Amino acid sequence: MTLLALNNIEIVYDQVFLAVRGVSIEVPEKGLVAVLGANGAGKSTVLKSISGLLKPERGAVTRGEISFDGRSILSVDPPDRVRLGIVHVLEGRRVFGHLTPKENLIAAATMHRERGHVTALIDRMFETFPRLAQRAKAEAGYLSGGEQQMLAIARALMTEPRLLMLDEPSLGLAPFLVDEIFDIVRNVNARDGVAVLLVEQNATAALEIAHYGYLIENGRILMSGEAAVLSANPDVADAYLGGH
Ligand code: ATP
Repeated sequence: MTLLALNNIEIVYDQVFLAVRGVSIEVPEKGLVAVLGANGAGKSTVLKSISGLLKPERGAVTRGEISFDGRSILSVDPPDRVRLGIVHVLEGRRVFGHLTPKENLIAAATMHRERGHVTALIDRMFETFPRLAQRAKAEAGYLSGGEQQMLAIARALMTEPRLLMLDEPSLGLAPFLVDEIFDIVRNVNARDGVAVLLVEQNATAALEIAHYGYLIENGRILMSGEAAVLSANPDVADAYLGGH
């Protein structure tokens, strides 16, 4: 079943700049879908339209439809989209630097009133991200880039989403950490059935874990297909897989 569907959406910045031009994307329930493309292709803009984080005075969806679980969400405000099960980890690992990982997770547990449930979720996050458990008492500002990215993802998972959206989680990380984070994302998808929409410039790493991928260029979908088929396509390899 389709969980998220973008149907021919168009997004305009500042009333004139067409950043996304008729994009259609589907994420099936429990799917792991990658959106690949160069800097400025429109990937982050697409994610913001799904979470509702486009600033209304700057950018707007001017055409098309976005539906989640069969209902239109374009007029649903961002906190209610989180309640529906959509969570967005923004590019640049934003964590509370003066709080410990545990405090960061507690602060992200706004959806839950029951203390026992919050504690159980935190325990699950430390199992999922053992590196965070090791750094449980350090202020998050002192964690490495990879650890902060893990914390940003763990915070998002505290909302118990149905769809986890990740914007460039590999950015600036050493390859072994990218592998570690992507393995965890794959596990969260496979074990917990959380659907994932992964935006990446690192196409090689993303296609290793994704089931399906879309290539986006200048705000348009250039190509889409099963991840294994895209990886084996020589045009894709030349344009997207060479640099990594
Ligand atoms: P990146 O990896 O750099 O985030 P991207 O593929 O995610 O790249 P977007 O950030 O979605 O690309 O940007 C798409 C286009 O929209 C770019 O030309 C960018 O300059 C423009 N853009 C992004 N945000 C805004 C904004 N707030 N106001 C005006 N133009 C914007």
